[in-house]
Amino acid sequence: MNSSPRVRFAPSPTGYFHVGGARTALYNWLIARKSGGKFILRIEDTDEARNGEEWVDGIISALSWLGIDWDEGPYRQSERSELYSKAVNRLIEERKAYWCDCKREEIDVRAKERGGPPGYDGHCRNLNKPKSPGSALRFAISRPGSTTVNDVVRGEVVFDHANLEDFIIVKSNGSPLFVLANVVDDINMKITHILRAEEHLPTTPKAILLFKALGVEELPVFAHVPVLVNAKRQKLSKRRDRVAVEDYRDLGYLAPAMVNYLALLGWSPGDDREFLTLDELIELFDLEKVNHSPAFFDEQKMQHFNGVYIRNLSDEEFVNYCYPFLEKCDWWTASDDQLYVFRAISPLVKERVSLLGEVPVMVEFLFTEDLRLPEDLVEQVLRKDAKAASILADIRSIYETIAQFSHDELNQATRNYCESIDTPLRKVQAPIRVALTGSKVGPPLFESIELLGRETTLNRLEKALQLINSR
Ligand code: GLU
Ligand code: ZN
Repeated sequence: MNSSPRVRFAPSPTGYFHVGGARTALYNWLIARKSGGKFILRIEDTDEARNGEEWVDGIISALSWLGIDWDEGPYRQSERSELYSKAVNRLIEERKAYWCDCKREEIDVRAKERGGPPGYDGHCRNLNKPKSPGSALRFAISRPGSTTVNDVVRGEVVFDHANLEDFIIVKSNGSPLFVLANVVDDINMKITHILRAEEHLPTTPKAILLFKALGVEELPVFAHVPVLVNAKRQKLSKRRDRVAVEDYRDLGYLAPAMVNYLALLGWSPGDDREFLTLDELIELFDLEKVNHSPAFFDEQKMQHFNGVYIRNLSDEEFVNYCYPFLEKCDWWTASDDQLYVFRAISPLVKERVSLLGEVPVMVEFLFTEDLRLPEDLVEQVLRKDAKAASILADIRSIYETIAQFSHDELNQATRNYCESIDTPLRKVQAPIRVALTGSKVGPPLFESIELLGRETTLNRLEKALQLINSR
C-alpha cells in the first residue's frame, strides 16, 4: 500500500497562513515527491463563522510561492457535504451514532452529581431518540475499551475510552464536525499517511474510531509533527510572534531559503548538513527521523540562511529578485539611468544584505535628489568629531581635482590624503560616508561615489559642511 503514498495538506482557512502550516505542508509534499506519490490540497472550510475567502487565497498563494505544488485539489469541504451525509446515514443505520437533545446545562448538572470528569455521560445512547430540532448526533464509543494511536513520531499512544465522551459528529444546526468531515475525506481520497500538527493528536482516537466504524480495515499511517516554539519555548502564536508566511515573503525571504529552514524544524538528515537543495531534501527526507520535541523557530537563524541563499544568487537573479522591492519605493522610476546604477551597485549590495527588504534602504542614496541626513548621525559623526569638518573640506577640494571619477582614482586619492594627515582610512571614510549616503553602513564607499558622480558628490560634501557649521 505504501509504495505510492497519497498525502494531503488540509488547512482550515481561518487566518494567515502560519509557518507551522507551511512546515506541515512541506513534510507532506516531501513524502509525496520522494516516492512518486500524490500530494492533495484540501481546504477544510466547514466552519462558516470563521472561514474567509481571503485566507483561502492566502494559503494558495503562499504554497505557490514556496514551490509546494499539488497533484489534486484544491478540494473544498464546503462542496462535499453529500459525502458527509452519506457517512452519517450509514452510522445511524448501523446504530453507531445516536441523536441526543441534552442541553449543555443538563450535561453539566449530571456531571456534577456524578462527581467524575465533566463531559457527556451517554444519557441518550439507548433511548433511541428521533432527530429533533436542536439535537446533535453523537458517536457511540465502545465501552469499556481503548484506542491506540500508532504514531510514527510519538510511538504508541493509548487512549482509554473512559476518558472519551460520545463525541458529536453532526451539530444541532446540521453541519458535520471537523473530525467527521476530515475522516470521511481521508477515506474518500484514499489517504495513506496523515501527517499533521501535534495539536490534533487528542482527536486522533476519535478519528480512528470513525475510520473503523466506516469500514476501514487498514488505517493510514499517523504522524504528528512537533509544535514550533519561540526563544522562550512558548508555542508560536500570532499575537506574540511573527508567524505569517506572507510577512516573511514581504520582508524579503527567498522561498528556497525558507523551505530549507522549515524542513529542519523537527527533522535533520542525520549528519550536520544544514544547507540542502530541494532535490536533496526530497531525497533525504525521512518521516522516521522526525523528532517529537518542540522545534525552536529561530528567526535569526532563518535570516542567516536567507543571507547565504542571497549571496548564492547570480547577479542577474539578485537584480530580478530586487525589483518588486524597489517598485514599492516612491523614488524608484525604473528609468534607464536608475537601472544602470542599480545593476552596477547590486553585486556589492548582494554581499551585504540578508533580506531583500534591506536593499532599498541601502541604495536609496543613489537615487534621491536631495538626501536628508539623519540628525543623530550629523550630531554623532559630523559635529562631535572635531576633525570631521576639516576632513570633508579637504576631501572636497581633492575630489574636485580628480579628472577621472573612478573608484580606483577616488580610492587612491583618499588613501594619499589619509597618509598626509596620518589618520587611518576608516576615520576618514566615516564622515564622507555619512555626508554622501546618510548612513553609517552601505555598499563599498568608492564604488558608491563613482556611481553618485562628481556633481552630486561635491554638492553633498558642501551641504554637509554647511550643516556642521550651522550650529
Ligand atoms: N484542518 C486542520 C487544521 O487546519 C487540519 C486537520 C488535519 O490535517 O487532519 O488544523
Ligand atoms: Zn443526550
